[in-house]
Amino acid sequence: MKSNQATLRASVQASAVIIPIAGMPRRGESARDVYRRLRGAWNGLVARNEATIREELRMRAPLALKVRSEMAVDLHAGRRLKFVPNCSLVLVGRSGRSTRCGLVGLCPYCWIREVGAVWDRVAGVVAPRPAPGAPRECSGEYDLVLATREFALPGTVRDFFRERVAGASLRGAAAIPPRRCEFRRLRFVGAYEVAAAYPKVVPVEGGEATRLVGVVRQLLAVRRGEDPGPWATGPGWPEVSVRRFDGATLGDAAKAVAALCRYPSGLLRKPGESEERAHGRALAAVLAARRGVRAWASFGAFREKDAPAGGGVESRRPQ
Ligand SMILES: [Zn+2]
Repeated sequence: MKSNQATLRASVQASAVIIPIAGMPRRGESARDVYRRLRGAWNGLVARNEATIREELRMRAPLALKVRSEMAVDLHAGRRLKFVPNCSLVLVGRSGRSTRCGLVGLCPYCWIREVGAVWDRVAGVVAPRPAPGAPRECSGEYDLVLATREFALPGTVRDFFRERVAGASLRGAAAIPPRRCEFRRLRFVGAYEVAAAYPKVVPVEGGEATRLVGVVRQLLAVRRGEDPGPWATGPGWPEVSVRRFDGATLGDAAKAVAALCRYPSGLLRKPGESEERAHGRALAAVLAARRGVRAWASFGAFREKDAPAGGGVESRRPQ
């Protein structure tokens, strides 16, 4: 039973990240072949955008190096750059040294790790372990509600992440209701929000263009049968698509978390020759926007490191 549950965590990670990028195993393929495709997609992106990533690593260098010298920063960026293609995958049944490149919001391996952490929190609330190390058991007290919005990003991508994930109040992100004002009106026990942006080729007058698309997903744990209330709507704001998952079924909870944390595979897509530059620029914008911004935001019961076992979780409002 215990190992089945460890597999469940890994399958959430796989369906959120590996399958959107590398696809399902084809006929006669093993998991190893799929991992190889994932590695190929990541290494391809790093090779195509080496200058951008190097610059980003320079920008993210520790302050102590920045005040020391330009050369120290260059050396640091060079060392990290060698490391980035080797960022490692830690899934069930694989042991050994774990390395992380820290390119939050882009690196699929760093994303996979975050998915595992989100799963642990959500499962800790809907299916706490009766005792440490014991198998998870659904309490049946909660349902999970997933809300998704997808829209073209009109303002700067940095404002979008700061507004949604960091909860800052910015006018520049008017494409979507401010997170604070929206969450204040929703009822939930715990909530997660994941924001992502990826380049997409869209038809425009006289041809095609690469545009950044923003995605906001929210997963709310609500009391069983309860409704979280209305999502904010407004002129020009994208429509919300809402899905409800049965929180009393571990498999459904896993599906909800995988959907919440789905990697925007448009980031790793190999662009056609004509869109290569626009794709590269979009990627640089996403990376710069992610600098110093967390990948996910959590509220209420999902904030707590060890969610209490069964009951006792009161509805809470986000800060
Ligand atoms: Zn990484």
